[in-house]
Amino acid sequence: MKRPTNGYATASFQNSKTASPASMSSISGARNSAFWTRNGIQRMKNFKHRGLPALFTGLILSVSTPAIALDSAAEKVRIDEVLAKEYPALDAIYKDLHSHPELGFQEVRTAAILAKRMRAMGFEVTERVGQTGVVAMFRNGDGPTVMVRTDMDGLPMEEKTGLPYASRVQVPWEGKQTYVAHSCGHDAHMVWWLGAAHALVSMKKEWRGTLMFVAEPAEETGKGAKAMIADGLFTRFGKPDFGFAAHVGNRPAGVTLIKDGPHSAASDLIRVTFQGKGGHGARPHLGIDPITMAAHFVSDVQTVISREKDPDIAGVLTVGSFIAGTAGNIIPDQAELQVTTRTFSTKVRDLMVSGIERTANGAAAMAGAPAPKIEMLIATPALINNAELTPRAAAFMKNAFGADRINYIPPTQPGSPTGEDYAEFIAAGVPSVYFNVGGGDPIANATAKETGVPMPANHSPYFSILPEPAIKTGAGILALAVLMVAGDDQSASSAKGD
Ligand SMILES: [Zn+2]
Ligand SMILES: [Zn+2]
Repeated sequence: MKRPTNGYATASFQNSKTASPASMSSISGARNSAFWTRNGIQRMKNFKHRGLPALFTGLILSVSTPAIALDSAAEKVRIDEVLAKEYPALDAIYKDLHSHPELGFQEVRTAAILAKRMRAMGFEVTERVGQTGVVAMFRNGDGPTVMVRTDMDGLPMEEKTGLPYASRVQVPWEGKQTYVAHSCGHDAHMVWWLGAAHALVSMKKEWRGTLMFVAEPAEETGKGAKAMIADGLFTRFGKPDFGFAAHVGNRPAGVTLIKDGPHSAASDLIRVTFQGKGGHGARPHLGIDPITMAAHFVSDVQTVISREKDPDIAGVLTVGSFIAGTAGNIIPDQAELQVTTRTFSTKVRDLMVSGIERTANGAAAMAGAPAPKIEMLIATPALINNAELTPRAAAFMKNAFGADRINYIPPTQPGSPTGEDYAEFIAAGVPSVYFNVGGGDPIANATAKETGVPMPANHSPYFSILPEPAIKTGAGILALAVLMVAGDDQSASSAKGD
């Protein structure tokens, strides 16, 4: 992906290259054919294990026919049994994590809880990967390496849900005191990650390969995945053949959305600092006012969306932070703005970046000020779900959960404007499916539909989920996704072509 570099003091575009669905598809396709042979042998071992006569197993090996379908519905029954047994403990961990959230790269207590639980299950655990990240490996014979990722961080905001286990945590952050809350639901992600691990360890005779369970810090700042990759995630622990992750949202608990192709937007964070000339508020003619400059920019920059971008193509630009001045009678010498953009294509992404640059330079030029400083603070690529794995996962999950609980969205539909730095792992070459698991109260969802008043969503101080159905669904989805690619009959034809 070609990135503009002019004028960016801290441009960090090297990680913003997104693998195309076509190239990922061909990578995974090649891997799948390698598994085919290996799985033929695995299937034979498995039949022996289940006590079938040797003659019959020999017959199966000698005929290179497609695999007997792995029945995801039957596997889900076994997963549900494990989750039913583990749920009381998982619920206690959920409520503990929810009431003790930690901000990005501060997840020390959180990481220790996850590491301890994973060690107790027999995982080989490495802590402090990418500052506070955790990597837990579980080797179970010859087969693919499958990554399952959770994020761990909370948000710098006050929770107002009124739940008995609501967070009241406050910490110093960027020079001031802030509340911290799991208002994006990463606490649920951690617990269904633990639940999936429990299920897969309990069912280790059903699959072959290596589990690579990754707990990522600082997802909200878009820095965690990059930090883990830079700390050798894929060189120290190996590059996974497949990757899976899921996010909780406010759609009805138990319903999972599977978005093929573009899932969530490229997310860039840009800082624009206007340089003025400070002075007395009563004598503006002796200074250069950076606040009027920045105010022009805030309104004019929206014309990049309304006048320059094709209205049929998605793209968002928001000025979310405007910091300038200390008192009403002082003209400050600078104004600092932070802008986020959300886009799905290189063309629109480049248009946004160049539009911000032109508008900022124009606003400064109008005021006779020097050119503003423009810095790319964070650049996260778009998250593209794998073209081969995603429809396969949708069919596999429909068979397990029922078609009414799996909502497959084709690649032609637009993705979500929210950013998600799991995209960094995909861009690093891990073919993946990123799921969206409902956690919302179904009755509240129905009321919202009726009244047109939307439910509080992720990042709202009122965002809350029904923990049990959300966590059980997320754990089931992730455990089944692993079985789909590492199960003894992973190449099952029944899981294709829905
Ligand atoms: Zn979030
Ligand atoms: Zn999130």
